[in-house]
Amino acid sequence: MDFDFSPEEQKFADEVEQWLVDNHDPVVMDHHRENFSQLSDTPERRAFMKKLAAKGWLGMSWPKQYGGQEIEGVFEFILTEALSRHAAPQIGKGVGIIGKTLIRHGSEKLKREFLPQILNAEVEFAVGYSEPQAGSDAANMQLKAEKVEGGWKLNGQKMWTTSAHFADWYWVGARTDPDKRKHDGISLFLIPMDHPGLEVQSLPTIGKDTTNQVFFEDVFVPDDYLVGERGRGFQMISEALDLERFTMFTLSPITNRTDVLVDWVKQAKRDGKPLKDDPNVRRTIAHIVTDTAVAKGLSTRFLCAAKGGGKPPTIQSSQYKLFTTTLSQRVCKDALDIAGHEGTIMEGQEEAPLLGRFEGAYRATMNETVGGGSSEIQKNIIARRHLGLPKNF
Ligand SMILES: Cc1cc2nc3c(=O)[nH]c(=O)nc-3n(C[C@H](O)[C@H](O)[C@H](O)COP(=O)(O)OP(=O)(O)OC[C@H]3O[C@@H](n4cnc5c(N)ncnc54)[C@H](O)[C@@H]3O)c2cc1C
Repeated sequence: MDFDFSPEEQKFADEVEQWLVDNHDPVVMDHHRENFSQLSDTPERRAFMKKLAAKGWLGMSWPKQYGGQEIEGVFEFILTEALSRHAAPQIGKGVGIIGKTLIRHGSEKLKREFLPQILNAEVEFAVGYSEPQAGSDAANMQLKAEKVEGGWKLNGQKMWTTSAHFADWYWVGARTDPDKRKHDGISLFLIPMDHPGLEVQSLPTIGKDTTNQVFFEDVFVPDDYLVGERGRGFQMISEALDLERFTMFTLSPITNRTDVLVDWVKQAKRDGKPLKDDPNVRRTIAHIVTDTAVAKGLSTRFLCAAKGGGKPPTIQSSQYKLFTTTLSQRVCKDALDIAGHEGTIMEGQEEAPLLGRFEGAYRATMNETVGGGSSEIQKNIIARRHLGLPKNF
């Protein structure tokens, strides 16, 4: 198996890299935002996405009939990793989660309305699955969708909806059929985020940015805005989560941080002695670099399994997400350990090594091991679906 890019893929990677260098903008590209740098939450960041759209780089893997180029997902992977390497906004939510699910399951009306907007970077989405009593167990969601004349009336609450404070549309799961088995009673809806009856309350997180809780009071959704088949929402959500676990958790922050760590170790001293002479420090970094190569291998496995489109590969996605987000966290923790007592100084203080880059990043990685389904949930999926072990302990 060849782990290197083909000449055509490498050419594209070089083109993207050059374009990002030429279009560098410190207002848009901010490494200190860590994983939240992927969101298009400001006018400048939305303008940047429009430039990407003008390059024809949104929806490259989509079918031609919906404005895509029908090329393999590896090109989107190359683009996403390059954007992440430059701390620029990313394409995952619109092109990946919403766009790909609509292409597989949406009505022609919803495809006609939303796919061009995604391709032109004219729309931002928030994704609402989690609720106060339905986090890891998303199938337990209780947001009530009651059938009324011409549509649905939604009442209840969502929790942890990232992007709700700036998004245009809400991609939201609700219980339409409470009498059915819990996995079969959920449907998916699209709702304009400024709809009367929706109230967004922000929750600043440990990870440097904001998520939200959202309250629904008699929110009317026309029939046309039910996505796919009634009662099949959970199956679509599961597919979308398989995509999210691969596309929203990139490798580049790990390699970026490792480079920063190595550069720092090369010149830092402890008790008057160069840190680079400490064998424990060298071993720790060698371990990180080796595990990064394993994470790259897991990403290649996902891309191979996802070739040709179709249902995203669940096991490969969970293995990638579990390994990459825990490694991402470990890199920060190892860097803080290497920094010794100075590692405890908070981000932004002059005395903090690298101005606390790893202190801030460590907090951000706490969110990564939870968002998109926690590490425990990824292990459960692998144990059950891959190894055929029982569902619960
Ligand atoms: C910053 C952030 C952003 C998020 N953004 C979104 C978003 O945009 N949209 C959205 O819908 N959701 C979002 N989430 C929710 C996220 O995807 C998780 O699914 C959710 O946070 C987990 O639910 P919970 O917090 O209620 O924890 P719980 O489900 O209560 O879990 C608590 C702990 O128990 C463990 N646990 C739970 N069940 C099991 C089990 N069966 N086996 C073993 N261990 C278990 C968990 O791993 C965790 O450690 C976000 C979460 C965070 C922190």
